[in-house]
Amino acid sequence: MTTIPDITIPDSMRPLDGRFGSGPSKVRSESVAALAAEADTFLGTSHRQDGVKIVVSALRNGLLEMFDAPDGYQILMGNGGATLFWDAATFGLIEDTAQMLVSGEFSSKFAKAVALAPHLGDPEVIEGEPGTAPAMIANDGVDAYCYPHNETSTGVAFPVVRPAGDGLVLVDATSGAGGLRFDAANADVYYFAPQKCFSSDGGLWIALCSPAAMERIDTIAATDRWMPEILNLKTAMDNSLKDQTYNTPALATIYLALKYTEWVNENGGLNFAAGRSDQSAATLYGWANARDYATPFVQDEAIRSHVVATIDLDESIDADTVVAVLRANGILDTSGYRKLGRNQMRISMMPSVEPSDIEALTHCIDHVVAALR
Ligand SMILES: *Cc1c(COP(=O)(O)O)cnc(C)c1O
Repeated sequence: MTTIPDITIPDSMRPLDGRFGSGPSKVRSESVAALAAEADTFLGTSHRQDGVKIVVSALRNGLLEMFDAPDGYQILMGNGGATLFWDAATFGLIEDTAQMLVSGEFSSKFAKAVALAPHLGDPEVIEGEPGTAPAMIANDGVDAYCYPHNETSTGVAFPVVRPAGDGLVLVDATSGAGGLRFDAANADVYYFAPQKCFSSDGGLWIALCSPAAMERIDTIAATDRWMPEILNLKTAMDNSLKDQTYNTPALATIYLALKYTEWVNENGGLNFAAGRSDQSAATLYGWANARDYATPFVQDEAIRSHVVATIDLDESIDADTVVAVLRANGILDTSGYRKLGRNQMRISMMPSVEPSDIEALTHCIDHVVAALR
């Protein structure tokens, strides 16, 4: 254990809220207060009764509104988070051949799950260097195209686009949903877990599904393909359409996700949320570009994420030390993604983070670096 340099950041310089983690990410205090106020009639009550079903229904409808979903799209949900959804998709959404865009940790994990599924053909894997966004190649033999909206490990935002042809488009939106704009008509399954932009807790998956995706779920479920019940999307769909989940969900997670959805919708929708992230991104990347010791890792500005920033530091400044000093001063979770192995900081600019706190963070980093130099 190396010792952490004793550097104190003045109180007046610090952000009001010290949570900058890219997952789990900042949960709005207003949501937690609302949950506490309603806890006695909500937490610890049956998820098969109206008290909870009304909240699930409000969440499902609020999400359709936030995403400006085309007619016929539905919100499905179940337990297990985004990682479980990958396995569920290998059983219930991919017929045989998927095309996987891979450039970072999360996209490579889904590609691995698909490659390992014994009932599927080998996926077409299109891999790019970390920090890039490889593009799809339309192919008649592909029945599902898979890519992340936001590759959280590298800070790359992929455009949500649909290739020519009729394969389904499955978008892992775990860190992008609720913070990045997109056209829902370009995705058949836009799925995420709510512990990132949705300012909630983990353990749940939520999926915006097109009619074609639900038809695919029905078609595969009618074949003799074996699937574990917890991964059965037909079961999840039947329950979701009744505002329930197959097994017991975390009620607090659902409640907090609804509070975020209401906050965004009441303030003008996804444009409001994405606008906050745009403002934070302009501040943070602008700062990095103006410093001789910091550089945005993602070179192509068009795919530089507005919800998760990855910033390389000059070799003369040890990023782990900066991160540790910030932590000692109450500024949390700014380290780069471990497996990327770079001298890097990674910072959430998700809509719940105040743009003014991103500004304050840049002053804090400057302060720490000046003291280290
Ligand atoms: C965080 C994350 C996941 C994993 O989510 P879990 O809910 O922990 O399974 C998957 N994909 C992306 C893009 C993520 O950011």
